[in-house]
Order: sequence, then structure tokens, then C-alpha cells
Amino acid sequence: CDRALLAVRRIKGQYNIYVAAYDDTLRNKLLREQAITDSMEAALEEKQFVIYLQPKFQIKDDQLVGAEALVRWNHPKWGFQSPAEFIPLFERNGFITKLDQYVWDQTCATLRRWDEAGYPQISVSVNVSRADIYNSDLIEFLTRTLTKYELQPSRLHLEITESAYTENPGQIIATVQQLRTLGFVIEMDDFGSGYSSLNMLNQLPLDILKLDMKFIQNETAKPTNQGILRFIMSLARWMNLSVIAEGVETREQLERLRETGCDYVQGYYFARPMPCDEFEKLLLQHQKQTGKTVQDDSARIA
Ligand code: C2E
Ligand code: MG
Ligand code: MG
Ligand code: MG
Repeated sequence: CDRALLAVRRIKGQYNIYVAAYDDTLRNKLLREQAITDSMEAALEEKQFVIYLQPKFQIKDDQLVGAEALVRWNHPKWGFQSPAEFIPLFERNGFITKLDQYVWDQTCATLRRWDEAGYPQISVSVNVSRADIYNSDLIEFLTRTLTKYELQPSRLHLEITESAYTENPGQIIATVQQLRTLGFVIEMDDFGSGYSSLNMLNQLPLDILKLDMKFIQNETAKPTNQGILRFIMSLARWMNLSVIAEGVETREQLERLRETGCDYVQGYYFARPMPCDEFEKLLLQHQKQTGKTVQDDSARIA
């Protein structure tokens, strides 16, 4: 905020119009953030946060193997809100932990409901923010929730974004190691987005690398990208990790991934994130087509 005021003062007089526009943008942003902050608690109580599921497929046989839970905010006045806007704000104001615990609980409730209905026993990934890992209640909450819904920990994949490991890596690694020992499947989300060193990768307790969509979507650097992808795949093999690519939007991208030996895919080319009941239909359709239940891929698919 200080920096903004400084900029305003320095260019005042000469660029009055710019000053006004800049000031308004900043003010509107702050007002919007305040409005979101003011309504988040009530929104959680009124169940305005809804979980969407995006399917994950195995490349070698197109099998549906699981889903990622992605939260949406269905606000009565503003309509559907993108997590790309409210999640970073919740990470700053601390509300993320409460919201994520709700998402994890609801995801487990859904898995339990599917189990009782005799649906294929797939696994679902949930996103875990850095603040969640620092929360002393994390392990206790997750184990309590699994017990409540009578689920094996391997049914829940924990997607921890690469950048979460940058600050105080020692403590984070210790917590993640504990979770992994308990049987949760650990995925490194947004791998390659800019933070992890190969040295760090070596120290992290992981099962799955989730490639950042940049690698798949950067069309201008295709040959180099393909080389990098091959390198990541062989590194992953060597470290006993599986690889999933997200953000797959075209057949060509899928074929390029297949060539490099990538294991799993997720993206608009296959399906967008969808409401739970819609995903359920996909699950049943898949069960009918294959004539068998989907194997629980979560049992250390590496
Ligand atoms: P993420 O965990 O990396 O999730 C993948 C994002 O990519 C999702 O955006 C998904 O809808 C989008 N996506 C999937 N396939 C494609 C594709 O083919 N093309 C493109 N362009 N995008 C695709 P979404 O749902 O808007 O979520 C954005 C981010 O918000 C997530 O990134 C995640 O970091 C965060 N987020 C979402 N739900 C939760 C949650 O429940 N808890 C936490 N802590 N974070 C969440
Ligand atoms: Mg994710
Ligand atoms: Mg994420
Ligand atoms: Mg990601």
C-alpha cells in the first residue's frame, strides 16, 4: 500500500488520469477482498462452497483411476467464484485451513457414500496449502476423518504444491513424512513451476509428481520441452515415482505425453471439473464398460 501511494505522489500532476485509474484499481481490489473476507465464514456455514471433481485417467489404457477435488464458491449474489481468486486470499487471512478441512471431510463423506453404494473404489486427491501443513491439528484431523468414514488413508491423495516446501523445508518434510508413513499418498502439485531443486526432490517423501501445466501447454518450445519431459520421466522412474500431467487440452498434447512415458493425465481434453453427481455417472458408466470395478490405484501406484 505504501509503495502505491509513493508511486501516486511521484507521478502526480504529469499523469493525473493514470493516477486515478491506478488508485481505483487498487481501491476496488481492496474493497473486493474485504467483501470476500466479510462473507467467508457465513458462506461456509450456509454451504456455499461446493466440491467439483475432475477425473484422472491412466494413459496406457484410458482407465479412470481417480479425481481431484476442486472447490468452487457458489455465492448467492456473485455467482460461481474462481478458487484462483479466493484461495490466495484465504491463504493470507488464515481461513484456508477451515475451508480445506471442510473440503477433506466432504470428500471423504462422498467416498464413503460410493463405497456403500458399491461403486468402484477410486481415490480422490485434495489440495493441501502450506498453512495446512503448519497447522498442528493436521494429522489428527485427517486420521480422525478417515476413521469417521471408515476409509483407508490410501484413498486420499494429498496434493502439496511445490512452493510449499520452500520455507522451513525441514519441518514440512517431517510432517509430510509422517503422513506418508500413515499411508496417505503424497503428490507434488505444480512440479517444475519454479521452486524445487533436484536436491530437494531427493529429500522429499513423495509418491507422485504432478507436472505443472506449463510443460504441456508451452507450444513455442516444443522440442526442448519434449526433452525436459523425457528427463523428468526418467528421473521419476529412477526415484520410483509416478507422473501425472495436468492441463491436457488437446490430442496432440496427450500423444506427446504418451511418447515420454507419462503415467496419468488430467485436463479439459478428457473432462472439466464437474459436480459430484455428474462424476458419479461417469464412474458408473466406466464400471459398465469395463465390466469390473476400478482398481484402487492409490495403493502406491509408483
Ligand atoms: P491446482 O491444484 O493446480 O488445480 C488445477 C487447476 O487447473 C484447476 O483450476 C483446474 O480446474 C484447472 N484445469 C484442469 N484442467 C485444465 C486444462 O486442461 N486447462 C486449463 N487451463 N486448466 C485446467 P481451479 O479449479 O480454478 O483451481 C485453481 C487452484 O486453486 C488450484 O490449482 C489449487 O491450487 C487451488 N484450489 C482449488 N481448490 C482448492 C481447495 O479445495 N483447497 C486448496 N487449498 N486449494 C484449492
Ligand atoms: Mg491440485
Ligand atoms: Mg494445488
Ligand atoms: Mg496444479
